[in-house]
Amino acid sequence: MRLVLMGPPGAGKGTQAETLAERIGAAHISTGDIFRANVKDQTELGTTAQRYMDAGEYVPDEITNAMVKERLSRDDAESFILDGYPRTLDQVEELDTMLAELDRPLDVVVALVVDREELISRLLKRAETSGRTDDTEEVIRHRQKVYTEETSPLLEVYGRRGLLREVDGMGEIDEVARRIDDALALEH
Ligand code: AMP
Repeated sequence: MRLVLMGPPGAGKGTQAETLAERIGAAHISTGDIFRANVKDQTELGTTAQRYMDAGEYVPDEITNAMVKERLSRDDAESFILDGYPRTLDQVEELDTMLAELDRPLDVVVALVVDREELISRLLKRAETSGRTDDTEEVIRHRQKVYTEETSPLLEVYGRRGLLREVDGMGEIDEVARRIDDALALEH
C-alpha cells in the first residue's frame, strides 16, 4: 500500500504512521525525522533545515523534494507511508512526477482531523519531554498558521482525486489506530 498521512502539527501523524507502517509492512518515511537526523549529525542539509524548523517555517521545496525523491527511489519504498510530505502544492506536483517515474501510484491519503485547542494542548504537553526546539508556544502557534495556509489546501486536491479519507484523530492512540484501519478496510 502507498499512502500519505496528513494532519496538522500535533494530530498524531508520527505516532500513527509508525505503528501503521508495522501493521501493513510499509516503509515509514517522515520528512521531519529525516531533517532531525540530519540536524543531529550536523550535515549540511541539517544546518540549512534547522534554521527553518526552529522558526516553524517549511524547509524550501527544492531541498525537501530532492530528499524525498532519493528516499522513494530505494527498493524498500515499494510500499510506503509518507508522514509530513507533501505539505505544499509544489510538493504535490513533484510527488506526482516522482511516483509516475517510479510507476508507484498513490493508493490513499489519510487525513487526521483534530480540533485546534486540542492540538495546541497536545503540543505543549509534548514540549515538556520532546526536546524539540520547535515545540515552544510561539512556534507551535506559527506552525498551525503555516499548516492552515500552505497545507490544508492539499486536502481539497486529494479530495477531488477521490483519494482522501478523513479520520477522527481525537481520543486514545489505539482508538485512532482502529479508525485508520477501518478507513483502509484493514482486518483487525
Ligand atoms: P514534523 O516532524 O513533520 O512536524 O516536521 C518538523 C519540521 O520539519 C517542520 O515544521 C518543517 O520545518 C520541516 N518539514 C518537515 N516536513 C516538511 C515538508 N514536507 N516540507 C517542508 N518542511 C518540512
